[in-house]
This record gives sequence, C-alpha cells and structure tokens, in this order.
Amino acid sequence: MRPIQDAFPLLETPKKIFITTHHKPDGDAIGSMLGLYHYLVKKGHKVTPVSPCEIPDFLAWMPGVNVMLDYEAQQQESLAALKSADLIFCLDFNDYNRTKHLEQPLAEATQPKILLDHHLFPKPVWDYGTSLPEKSSTCEMVYDFINQCGDNALIDLDIAACLYTGLMTDTGSFKFPITSAAVHLMAADLKSRGLDHTRIHEEVYDSWSENRMRFLGYVLIERMEVFKKYNSALITLSRKDMNMFNIQSGDSEGLVNYPLSISGIKFATLITERTDEVKMSFRSKGDFDVSSFARNYFEGGGHFNASGGRSKTSLTETIVYFKKILSDIHPK
Ligand code: 5GP
Ligand code: MN
Repeated sequence: MRPIQDAFPLLETPKKIFITTHHKPDGDAIGSMLGLYHYLVKKGHKVTPVSPCEIPDFLAWMPGVNVMLDYEAQQQESLAALKSADLIFCLDFNDYNRTKHLEQPLAEATQPKILLDHHLFPKPVWDYGTSLPEKSSTCEMVYDFINQCGDNALIDLDIAACLYTGLMTDTGSFKFPITSAAVHLMAADLKSRGLDHTRIHEEVYDSWSENRMRFLGYVLIERMEVFKKYNSALITLSRKDMNMFNIQSGDSEGLVNYPLSISGIKFATLITERTDEVKMSFRSKGDFDVSSFARNYFEGGGHFNASGGRSKTSLTETIVYFKKILSDIHPK
C-alpha cells in the first residue's frame, strides 16, 4: 500500500468517488464516511457514500444521512455508483469481508482504492492509504487527512459534527487509553468552530426507547454471568429475549461495556444470537488482548481492547465453547 500522499494528485481534478464503511456501522463508521463526504463535495468531487446496511436510529440525525445509500435496500443504485466511480475510499475496516454483501463487488472493482483505518492487521489489497492502530478513530484520521491536504479552513459545522461523533464514540467519550493529546486538540479545534457537543452526545446516548432501557435492566439481572476468578463477565442475548422487548438492530450496542464497570472485571463478552450467525463482542481493560482472542477462537479481530467475531454453531453450543476457553486461558 502506497502512502496516502501519493493519492493526492488523483484528487486534484473533479472525480467520481465511492465511499464505504463496515457492516453494522457505528458512530465512527458513519461519522468518518459522512465527514469525508462533505469535505470531498466541497473540493468539487461527485461523491456517493454507501453503507453496507441500514444504520442505527441513534445516527439518523447526522448531516448527509439523506444522500447516503443503503446497499441492502438500494443495491442497484449502489452498484451503479461503484461501477462509475473513479476512486474508492474504504473507511474504518481493513478486510473486505467486514462489509458483508459488498465484499465481492469491492474485491472485483479495479479502480484505485484508498484505505483510512485504525484496526490491526490490514489485508494487502489497497493501493493507497493509512493504517494506524494507534489512532483513536477513523474520524481522527479523516481530520488528519483534511489537514494534510492543507484544508483545515474548510472544516464546517457539518464536517465537525460528523467527525466529533466517531471521536466521541470510539474513545468511550474520551475515556479509553487511546485518547491522546491529539484527540483533545482535535475536539478543541472542532469546538472552536461552534460545535454543539452536548447535542451530539444527547443524540447518540440519550435517545433510547423505554423498551431498550427496560431491556438493559432485564439483561443485567437475568443474562449476565460474572466469573470473578477469571476477572471476566459474559452477557448472552437470545432472539427470544430480543423479541420479548421488541429490540431493534443497534439497541444492544454498548451492552458489552457494562460488566467492565464492576470492580476487578477486565474482560467482558457479549454473545448475540442473530438470524444468520452468533455474533461475539469482546472488550477488555489493561493488558488482555481481545483482538488476538477474537482472531484465535472466533474468526474475528479488531483492536487490542475492543474486538468482535462470530460463531457458526448454536447459541447454546457457543456459550459452552466460550466457557471452556475461559477456563483454559484464565484471563488475568
Ligand atoms: P463490536 O463488538 O462493536 O461489533 O466490534 C468491536 C470492534 O471489533 C470494532 O472495531 C470492529 O470493527 C471489530 N470487529 C467486530 N467484529 C469483527 C469481525 O468479525 N472481524 C474483525 N476483523 N473485526 C471485527
Ligand atoms: Mn473505528
């Protein structure tokens, strides 16, 4: 992969640009995609942002959501945009398989592809890009990219709102160790332009339905197991549980973090029964590497302290398998 600066000449004349991100997108995925979208449009390009699937309700307020395509709902239009594009930007993922149904179209596309991402172990399939696991978020990387292009002055309130969203969500509201001085300087720069950070925090975190709040109570009482001697905790969600509370896609977001607020818990796992697979989410504090854990046991990956994966067996079998691994590896 060539450094992103080598791609700057490609952006000197107006281009048709396709931007995409990972399946089940989060605040950093949509924030970075739409932040980059607004910037590239200002530079005179024709840009199509495409999400691999529907976005969660807590991101529906974001500027640019109305022009974004949903690949699952608008496949023909999305493929036409991909086909006619001169350039492809891939944000917040580093393996085509993270885009699910877009995996094959992306792999087959022959246009130059540019990566901006902060996950470990990028696949060697991009022509240009930056892969920096030490960066807090892809939103921080889009901000750096705009600055490298000499365009800090072009950052308006829409760009600021999009980029702040991923900066906030991927740092756990500026709590995780990845929150560097550069993160706070970026937040300060966005704030100095008039960014309403309270509104963004409320849109993302205080937009729960009553059902979702009651579901959280139910899950913490009925579906969380704590393994004190392994400094670990496990939450399991079945389809039945989610149907009982009419839980929407995205409503289980963040549940995996709760056990880490228990004193002594360093490793938290959420196992969710989806229609087509069993989804695993891992979070840790300190030096337990959940990226390797996800890669070694659950066909996944991610970051050192936040990762995910999947299991092809049933929910019950997955829980048994997970507990066996836990007793074998004894997280410290
Ligand atoms: P989440 O638990 O929120 O789904 O994912 C946590 C982190 O792990 C995210 O940064 C996400 O990109 C990454 N991740 C989640 N699932 C997978 C997966 O199946 N494969 C890889 N490589 N990374 C994943
Ligand atoms: Mn991210």
